[in-house]
Amino acid sequence: MYLEPIHLPANNSSDAYEFVIYRGDLECSSAPGNKQHKLKYHLQQALQEHKSIAATFGGPHSNHVAAFVARCVELQITPIVVVRGETWASLTPTLRRAVQQGAILFPSSRLDYRLGMQSKIKDAIDQYYAGEVYWVPEGGAGALGVLGCLDWANHIYQKLNDSSYHVCLASGTGATAAGFAASDFNSVSVFSALKGAHNLEQDLYSHCLAANIEVTAKLECFDESLHGGFGKMSDALIHFLHDMLAHNPTLRLDPVYTAKMVYKVNQLLAQGSWPHRKTVFIHTGGLQGWRGMPVGHCPYNENDWL
Ligand SMILES: *Cc1c(COP(=O)(O)O)cnc(C)c1O
Repeated sequence: MYLEPIHLPANNSSDAYEFVIYRGDLECSSAPGNKQHKLKYHLQQALQEHKSIAATFGGPHSNHVAAFVARCVELQITPIVVVRGETWASLTPTLRRAVQQGAILFPSSRLDYRLGMQSKIKDAIDQYYAGEVYWVPEGGAGALGVLGCLDWANHIYQKLNDSSYHVCLASGTGATAAGFAASDFNSVSVFSALKGAHNLEQDLYSHCLAANIEVTAKLECFDESLHGGFGKMSDALIHFLHDMLAHNPTLRLDPVYTAKMVYKVNQLLAQGSWPHRKTVFIHTGGLQGWRGMPVGHCPYNENDWL
């Protein structure tokens, strides 16, 4: 279940390489992808502490916010979201949906937002709700987030039932990748959605240290260097997604993370420099991210991915 072949445009010698994708985007309709796994132990902890409210931080198009609000509502916890940026002319589609589901939003200046768990806005919310609030760090990271991803990685490893697969995974904070790096998988390529992610490998080690687990996989890290940085799309990327859709009519990639990962692997393959015979891509979800993209960038029909 959830494992299927993926056809890369550059792969014409079809027997030399095997590519499959684990469809994390299909696992859970309310909170698809990696975010529900990052949230798993956080929200368990909130319930154990009998908190009626959970709060987190997020950007206005954030996949984390979308998943956080959906999971909280399912667990009958009231979600609070501290949103980056002080003024909103109008709510983004992601935030509008959050409010419709019952989330309470608090604006925050970029300066204070950056302080996260030490921010003034967090203090103010804690005071106002008098100890009722369980806090989840931005992106659902932290040791509990990493441990949820470790479980996810080992679950996928068992489903594959073949230790020779090389893993490809997209990353932002690197918390998800840290879970995979410490899992039963032997080798992992991590594709950062951020430009200049020179410390990515270091970050993975820090995440693992914090979660008291060890990096056991061989790692290779790639920087976002082709499409203009986080959340940006190049014409080449948009063109590639049309090509991918023609080769894989039932597969939708997200614009921020998974599209760039598959693009890069396809490019390396075309150059003859992809060394792994068997590869599994992890689909980390994020399709709601298309809501924040300019109309015309999305190669998919809206009905197909929302
Ligand atoms: C958040 C996200 C990631 C990155 O997860 P990190 O744990 O922050 O590295 C990757 N893919 C998608 C689709 C995401 O939404």
